[in-house]
Amino acid sequence: MTTHSSDQVSVLGLGAMGSALAGALVKAGHPTTVWNRTPGKADAIVALGAESAATAEDAVRASRLVIACLLDHASVLEVLGPLSAELAGRTLVNVTTTAPAQSRELAAWAADAGVAYLDGGIMAVPDMIGRPGSSVLYSGSAEVFDRHKPLLDLWGDSAYFGEDAGLASLFDLALLAGMYVMFAGFLHGAAMVAPEGVTASAFAERAAPWLAAMTGGFQGFAAVVDGGDYTVEGQQSLGFSSLDDLIAATSGQGISTEVVDMVQRLIRRQIDAGHGEEGFARIIESIRQPAH
Ligand code: NDP
Repeated sequence: MTTHSSDQVSVLGLGAMGSALAGALVKAGHPTTVWNRTPGKADAIVALGAESAATAEDAVRASRLVIACLLDHASVLEVLGPLSAELAGRTLVNVTTTAPAQSRELAAWAADAGVAYLDGGIMAVPDMIGRPGSSVLYSGSAEVFDRHKPLLDLWGDSAYFGEDAGLASLFDLALLAGMYVMFAGFLHGAAMVAPEGVTASAFAERAAPWLAAMTGGFQGFAAVVDGGDYTVEGQQSLGFSSLDDLIAATSGQGISTEVVDMVQRLIRRQIDAGHGEEGFARIIESIRQPAH
């Protein structure tokens, strides 16, 4: 059975993201019922053609497919916890950001309640929903994913990671880890050149293409990590990768060295353990084994 554009769906939570998700469903022709804790937020979606439910319970009763896009795990438990009887026999797709353990907890709760459960992690901001570049990661019930994929694809590229409900969240947070460290690196560079009168905007013009080009190195690092041999020819060695000059220049600009110190510590632990001749990808071993 596949989802049809006429399938009825309910969306719980009309914050910035919930509104974007609900809007995409209404525009695609799905009869959509929406609910939000604070009244008034449904007006824009209702103007597009959605029905507004007075309570979360009414919204759940309106559809076989229920989407939750609330603030966090606690708000999902608060709203859905008392509605297990109403949700029984229905399908819940929870795209609220949760940690892997929380996603697994919700999946176990759903299984006990007789609810088919799919967990989602949204890799987009609200303006991107339904546009190129938007993707949503899913894990949990493969049957739910397969059945509703056409509907889920309305929000962006839908990727499925497996029956373990925590996997989508784990990938989501792993990708965000890369994003935050990259952002910190960009801002570190902007702070380095700022004392010379260079604006952050001017620095961003140089940094964006440079960092984009550097992502071309990911697969090379990945091949070394997956192969488990950091001595492979052609890699930049850890000894060569010392950040001493970079850290000295950072200090010379009178700014914090914290961002680059972190990378230097990861390098240093491997050099101190006798791996200075091996490739840079070996710092993953420092990350895998927390420092004591
Ligand atoms: P908002 O802060 O805009 O909205 C939060 C929503 O949660 C509102 O509908 C709010 O209702 C509701 N809510 C909060 N606490 C409760 C509660 N205790 N009971 C009932 N409802 C509650 O957040 P977003 O819409 O931006 O985000 C929603 C989810 O999507 C989050 O998990 C977020 O991490 C995720 N996400 C958001 C992205 C973004 O760029 N915005 C990107 C990727 C993921 P009320 O109006 O009554 O306060």
